[in-house]
This record gives sequence, structure tokens and C-alpha cells, in this order.
Amino acid sequence: MSVDERAEALASDLGIDKEEVKQDLENLVSYSVPMDEAVQSLRRKYGGASTGSEPESKAIGEITTADSNVTVTARVLTAGKRSIRYQGNEQVITEGVLADSSGSIDYTAWEEFGLSPGDTVTAGNAGVREWDGHPELNLGESTSLAFEDETLDVPHEIGGERDLVGVEPGDRGLTVEARILEVETRTIDGRDGETEILSGVLGDESARLPFTDWEPREEIREGADLRFENVYIREFRGAPSVNCSEFTTVSALDREIAVSDSAPRKPIGEAVESGGAFDVELVGTIVAVRDGSGLIQRCPECGRMVQKGQCRSHGQVEGEDDLRVKAILDDGTGTVTAILGTELTREIYGGDIDDAREQARDAMDQEVVADSIRETLVGREYAVRGSLSIDEYGANLNASEFHEVTEPPAERATALLAEVSE
Ligand SMILES: [Zn+2]
Repeated sequence: MSVDERAEALASDLGIDKEEVKQDLENLVSYSVPMDEAVQSLRRKYGGASTGSEPESKAIGEITTADSNVTVTARVLTAGKRSIRYQGNEQVITEGVLADSSGSIDYTAWEEFGLSPGDTVTAGNAGVREWDGHPELNLGESTSLAFEDETLDVPHEIGGERDLVGVEPGDRGLTVEARILEVETRTIDGRDGETEILSGVLGDESARLPFTDWEPREEIREGADLRFENVYIREFRGAPSVNCSEFTTVSALDREIAVSDSAPRKPIGEAVESGGAFDVELVGTIVAVRDGSGLIQRCPECGRMVQKGQCRSHGQVEGEDDLRVKAILDDGTGTVTAILGTELTREIYGGDIDDAREQARDAMDQEVVADSIRETLVGREYAVRGSLSIDEYGANLNASEFHEVTEPPAERATALLAEVSE
């Protein structure tokens, strides 16, 4: 929709003059405020001037992105607080999920309504915005919020308790229990100058994930078993990452968490569809070993592969020899490129860089190294564990473990089904 169309829709919604709205909208957009935010901000500004009639009550499952304002009665499933910078001001928002018997919907509350998981509320005149093709609710100044005495029964769990394998980017107000596996202090250029944060890896019985603590806490040390309340999940290099804000509470657990040694196994199609994974196991047949495998030369500056003595960033360089495999793994549901570093490649090749150099020299062609690797891998089935990232370079699985599959296919299918249906 153009600015003009947005202004017209907004003006008719709010019952005010279109030209006035359009000017405000153009103004905000010219300050690089995203259109959806600009519209929401004007809704708040003019909310009081609306015709006063409350929009119709809707079942959550029936709300669509075509709605502009609705009234819903719902149960608060989660309520996570977060501080954001909005139009130059620090603002605390509450985000989470509302549900009734027909469905659930993400919400953002721009006012402090005091929402807690388990509350039953009626939100009158809640704004509907579109996010990623789905409707979401905005509760703001023009929303009337009432707490109901009668509890609404919903077919969802109240509160945001999750296993790590079950979190997704965009989740808010979650509670997780996990062990800190790695942690380091980092200095970053924050919005208020240099600031220290903690980052690392945590794990539970189901998975491992990266985390960031934006307000460094003493309790977060390697080996600590902790309960994190009110965390939010962001995407980090294509995988979910757990984020602690100033509103997160961290407390010691009186139980030991048995962190899983293995990574969750997923069908390739599903793993790619999910947008990436920090630590995952994919099983498939290697259908090809790509160019740029075997004995390669890397730029000493940036580590990128050098072709004909040229680095894409650094021009003419003296390349350093390395061993690598880029193999296409296919399980019938999808494909990824498994990238194996020096160590894993050495095991597969059955020799080190010197052996590869010698083989290449004898043949006067370094492709012979990739050819030997191809002969070993192509047509066989492997389980590859690693971190999966999806970006403009495709779906790449950076392997940490790699082994040939020996289980009979039937048993494997059963094991996979059991995991998927958990
Ligand atoms: Zn370079």
C-alpha cells in the first residue's frame, strides 16, 4: 500500500481528516520510521479522537491482517518485558501471546497494563498489524483493557516454560532452565557507548543454543545450572539465540541439568525450512562433492579460498594450503552443503596436507585430491552434526562431527519418527 492509501485507510478508521494524517505519515516515513510503526504511532496519537465506537468482538482465530481494530477476550499465555528505543525515547514494552479457544496471537503492549501469564483480559480496540504475513495485536493508548474475573479455558499451556529445542526466533516472555556451557565477556558498541555483555552457549536435555546477556549477571558462569525467567529469542546467524534483558530474572537451580551429548536430528527439509540451527544432526546421502573441495589455497588475510592466486577481497596473495570438503547431502526432503574443515577432511582423505600436496604434484593436478574424496563419499549415507546457516550463499552445514550411517534404514526411520512426534 502507498502512503496515500495507508493515510486514507487510517483516516477512515480513526474518523479524522485524511490530509492531516497523510502529512504526519509522510513526516514519520521521511525520518525512516518503518511504515507499520508510523501507522501505529498515529493510531496512538489520534486514538482519542476516534468516533468512540468499539470495534466488534472477534475470536482470535478469526482475526486477519485485513482487520484494523478488534476487541478480544483472551488468556495471557506469556508476558515478557523489554526496553526498546522508540522515536528517540526509551520505552518499556510487554510482548507475548494471547489465546482463546479458537487460536493464539502475538501481542505488543505499549502501555504498562500489568499483564501476567494466566490473566483473562478483554482488550477493547486493539490494533491489528501485519508481521511476516500474520496478524499481531497492538495494545496502546487507545486500547481499553479490563481484567475479567472469570477464567477463560484455553487449550494452551500458560506461562512460557520451554525446552531449548522448542524455542523460535520471535518468542518472548519465555522461561528456560539450562546449564551454562561456555561464557565470555565482550565489549560492544552499544547505543549508549561501549558496554559489556556476556555471550556464550547454554544447553539442556534437548539442545544447545547461543545466548546473550545484555546486563551481565554474576550468576552466569560456566557450569552453573540456572532458571531464566522472561527471556526473548532472537535470530543469530540463522539460529535461535536466548537473550536476557534487564527484566530477566536468573536464579540458581537445585537440580543438575543433564545436557544432551547429541544434537537433535531433523529431516533436512524441516531444518532448512526453520531458517537454521545452532547444533543439529542431518542424515542423508552424499550426492556430490562440490568444486572447491580437496586441496585448496586460502588467503592468509581473510581465510577465503584463493583462486588463481587471487582473493576476492585482497587481490594477489600467496595462498596457504588447506584441506576442505563441500559435499551435498540429500535425504529426499531437502539438500544442504556440508562443509568439513581440515580435521574431518583429513580423516576422510586418509592423509594430511603434505600427502595431498604429494599426490597433486605426482599427478600435476590438485583436483586428484578432490577426486579421491569423491570416490569415498558419493553415494554413501552419512550423519553430519553441525551448525546450519541459511543465507544468500545457500544452506550450509558447518560440520563438527561426521560419520557413516550403519543403522538399517527401517530402524532409523522409526527413531526419526519418534523424535519428530515428541
Ligand atoms: Zn583475502
